Amino acid sequence: MSFKSLGLSDSLLHAITKKGYTEPSPIQTKAIPPILERKDILASAQTGTGKTAGFTLPMLQILSESKQPKRRPIRALVLTPTRELAAQVYENVKEYSEFLSIESTVIFGGVNQNPQVRALRNGVDILVATPGRLLDLYNQRALSLSQVEILVLDEADRMLDMGFLRDIKKILALMPGKRQNLLFSATFSTEIKQLAGSFMTDPILVEATPKNTAAELVIQKVYHVDKVKKTSLVTKLISQGNWSQVLIFTRTKHAANKLSEKLTKNGIASLAIHGNKSQGARTKALEGFKNGTTRVLVATDIAARGLDIPLLPHVINFELPNVSEDYVHRIGRTGRAGASGEAISLVSHDEHDLVHGIEKLLRQKLQIEVMEGYEPSAAPPAPKDEPRRSSGGRKPDFRKGGSGGGQGPRSGGQGGQRRTDGRDGGDRRTEGKSGGFRKSGGGQRSSGGGTPRGNSSGPRSGGGAPRGNSGGQRSGNSRPNKGNRD
Ligand code: AMP
Repeated sequence: MSFKSLGLSDSLLHAITKKGYTEPSPIQTKAIPPILERKDILASAQTGTGKTAGFTLPMLQILSESKQPKRRPIRALVLTPTRELAAQVYENVKEYSEFLSIESTVIFGGVNQNPQVRALRNGVDILVATPGRLLDLYNQRALSLSQVEILVLDEADRMLDMGFLRDIKKILALMPGKRQNLLFSATFSTEIKQLAGSFMTDPILVEATPKNTAAELVIQKVYHVDKVKKTSLVTKLISQGNWSQVLIFTRTKHAANKLSEKLTKNGIASLAIHGNKSQGARTKALEGFKNGTTRVLVATDIAARGLDIPLLPHVINFELPNVSEDYVHRIGRTGRAGASGEAISLVSHDEHDLVHGIEKLLRQKLQIEVMEGYEPSAAPPAPKDEPRRSSGGRKPDFRKGGSGGGQGPRSGGQGGQRRTDGRDGGDRRTEGKSGGFRKSGGGQRSSGGGTPRGNSSGPRSGGGAPRGNSGGQRSGNSRPNKGNRD
């Protein structure tokens, strides 16, 4: 399959070649033709699959083919949950429209609005925006949405998680009813389906399905360790492994700051990225991480969402996320762009329930290890939904190791606990969905933030309504996260 056969114009093909793409990713192959036919689409895809080009390329083609009104009104609106994602989508729009007469701009909160207002005044065909700033500027009469022909809701699930549902409804009411709607989401909860049903017309369901089994590989490791020793263990892993680019996830902004400061004190150049940081600080941190001056980026889930950092070899979960699906997003940061990666989770005693939630979602047991010198002071608790096995009066002895020893959280499975000195290259690999694309010249598939097998999230094409899924819905402990709202 080539980009040309998808029906894209020469100007777009030129821009695609300039970007170095040789063939479309699965989501692009599936999404571009129906979008060019002006159909509504409901797409299951996450960051790393090439979804941005999947909607941007056909959107540009449609806008450049139709008659250009004199005073450029906003004809396409792309809504994203975070500033970072908005900035990245805008970058892509600019790159792909280089050989077209299409103007675009981006607006988001946390920065001075004046340059944004000026750009809007000059007239733009495409506006990329976060919901808060969009409504803000709308209320100041700095923009009108009355001529919008195409609406894209990018990472719709995250927008709802961040509490944007009301804002989205308000924005929908500001646009003409007759327009093309494209909704992209990594997961499809009841709320997403309800939202889609409220404004989309016979949407075509599109998803990046697994293509083959020679898949992208993410090595997952879980270390059981006391909370107070996590920083020391992270320092040891990074220093001993001589890792040069590590993305670390924490649950809170405070923890991100604290860890980043400690790592820097320990001689590992690190910066934190989260919603309380100014836009300038976030951009600078990301730049430093990309160009190698910052070795470690410590991020909260929301801040990391949408970050385009290819070729990330190491991701560490300093704390497990409260929402199991976020684990999948996090580990999808490794092994992108055709490389395999390693996802390490540090799990303290109180986090074992979260491990069980993740295992359920992945339909896979995670091998829990103990690092020499970091033995936890307590045994992991038995999962709540499994009977606690009798220890037969023996004290847990992790140093014995081995899942067959009967001291792990469960016996007989692939899980369990074992001891390692860190040199063990444990090969517990997760096959991700092949949502990615072939890299030029390389034979490997990108993991593309792929969802590990078993996470059946999203609609299935060929069905009527989006299918209820095992992994796609937010778990009960999912709380709307209002951090980093724009
Ligand atoms: P996205 O999922 O849109 O965030 O894209 C992830 C990364 O894949 C970005 O760095 C894109 O530039 C890149 N990309 C998108 N489409 C392709 C393609 N067809 N071939 C190679 N890389 C691509």
